[in-house]
Amino acid sequence: MLENLSQRINKALHLLKGYGQITEINVAETTKEIRRSLLDADVNFKLAKEFTNKVKEKAIGQNVLQTLNPGQLFTKIVRDELAELMGAEASEMNLGKNPSVILMSGLQGSGKTTISAKLSNYLKKKKGKNPLLVAADVYRPAAITQLHMLGRQVGIDVYSEKDNKNPLDIAKNSIKQARSHNHNVIIIDTAGRLSIDQEMMDEISAIHTALEPEETLFVVDSMTGQDAITTAKNFNEVLNFDGVVLTKLDGDTRGGAALSIKNVINKPIKFIGTGEKIDDIDIFHPDRMADRILG
Ligand code: GDP
Repeated sequence: MLENLSQRINKALHLLKGYGQITEINVAETTKEIRRSLLDADVNFKLAKEFTNKVKEKAIGQNVLQTLNPGQLFTKIVRDELAELMGAEASEMNLGKNPSVILMSGLQGSGKTTISAKLSNYLKKKKGKNPLLVAADVYRPAAITQLHMLGRQVGIDVYSEKDNKNPLDIAKNSIKQARSHNHNVIIIDTAGRLSIDQEMMDEISAIHTALEPEETLFVVDSMTGQDAITTAKNFNEVLNFDGVVLTKLDGDTRGGAALSIKNVINKPIKFIGTGEKIDDIDIFHPDRMADRILG
């Protein structure tokens, strides 16, 4: 996870710590190398620049060069800024209603179906909820079958309607189903396309308006870097979603999406997908991720 970025930043910081006496030139070189690492991680130019400017400002403000252990203090500044960039604190979900609706949005292949099942399992095991998974991707029968298989695997009910091609109807009906079967959380897996298209946006927007979900989550493949940010912007304009789920972080060596998304769209990353197994889901902790990068 984020190995390349981690190696690059750590190398720059180790060099700095290695100098007997740190000079302004050393700090400037290190900062420059950190900026290059961010750019190579697929963080956009403006954000990478802002980040290193902040680090520099803090280093000057805290008189880093005059302290006993400048390398260590500088590393701490970088660590804190990385955490801040990713959102500072973990962001919880609001699930106060009965039933609460969680609407999953995102492109096809982002990992939406997988994370829906992971999330249902997490809510059942860790939060004592009784979730209902809803298959609202009427275009791909395989997606419905996949959700049923995953549901069976974790012992969670899945609602689908074989001959109904209207996802809004299915979503509305799932609320009745949840009420009559005592499900207090409904997770709706919606249809994604390979790229943004109007029909998909209209469809999810209609479900969003009708069901007023407590949590609308945008699911995106971490490995897609800046594309993830562009897609996030598009979905956010239509749905004004509550949070992001970053999937496939286990395969992402660069981390551009993880580092930029909070800053660009001002929505928190709430969960991360860290593998193909059902338990490979975590709450996103920006500070822990920063520690991990510098670990
Ligand atoms: P959907 O089209 O958005 O519903 O995507 P799927 O849930 O079908 O996932 C697409 C592929 O990505 C599947 O092969 C999943 O096993 C895989 N996948 C999903 N999440 C993760 C993850 O966190 N890590 C890894 N390595 N693979 C994942």
